[in-house]
Amino acid sequence: MPWVFRGLRNGVLTTRYPRRPDAYAEHGVRNLARPVAGAVWRDGLEDLCPTGAIGQAHGEVRVDQGRCIGCGACVSARPETFGWQTGGDTARLDRRALVVPELAETDDELARLRAGLARRTRALRRSVHIRHVDAGSDGSEEWEVLALLNPVYDIHRLGIFFTASPRHADILLVTGAGSHGMTAPLARTLEGMPVPLVVIAAGTDAISGGLVSPSYATAGGVGDLLPVDVWVPGSPPSPFSLLHALLLATGRLRSGARRSA
Ligand code: SF4
Repeated sequence: MPWVFRGLRNGVLTTRYPRRPDAYAEHGVRNLARPVAGAVWRDGLEDLCPTGAIGQAHGEVRVDQGRCIGCGACVSARPETFGWQTGGDTARLDRRALVVPELAETDDELARLRAGLARRTRALRRSVHIRHVDAGSDGSEEWEVLALLNPVYDIHRLGIFFTASPRHADILLVTGAGSHGMTAPLARTLEGMPVPLVVIAAGTDAISGGLVSPSYATAGGVGDLLPVDVWVPGSPPSPFSLLHALLLATGRLRSGARRSA
């Protein structure tokens, strides 16, 4: 009985995203660094980052969010140069688009990728099944993946389900840095899935290998092991970022432009 009263008192907690903006997704998700507007490049900035995410292009500071583990070292040491990116819409179709601020030359390639994915996934828009494979994760991504099933995110309301069988899956969601021991199982999973299928690399480890990569045990991310369609940065990515990736993968969202910090 107590849960009935608690339910009546709390009301509906499930997010309305993507139908309506979600305040937590907009302002509460802060796990990726980015240069502040007008940040000036100085020698030594790259030494702040333990994963080599900081660099420069055309004299401007750039952060490769596919390498950012959200440690905050750059934001603490140089708050005039780096800040936190807010918002959960962080998934991208092009690995290069994770380098922020984005380079203008990625726009044409992005349009081509978006059109190609939309053609392939036209049949997946109503209901999809996900096969999740841990390819050497530290376990943090799995907590966020699991959260997609709780009443706050409730991805079943969007016709998105998890399945244990690759035969029934439309989307392969891969977490972890891509350990060598998972190379063959990943290939077998991919072979067992019907086409069209979409591959999502979820988390900084899956994108670039994170802190430990490449190592004797891992590849430099799962992109070295299989073709990836959608990249979700974050260590770990928030459930809103994972949701953004799933909607992007099924053609229900467009890969939006980056917002500023
Ligand atoms: S937050 Fe940490 S990992 Fe991310 S860019 Fe800054 S120093 Fe690098």
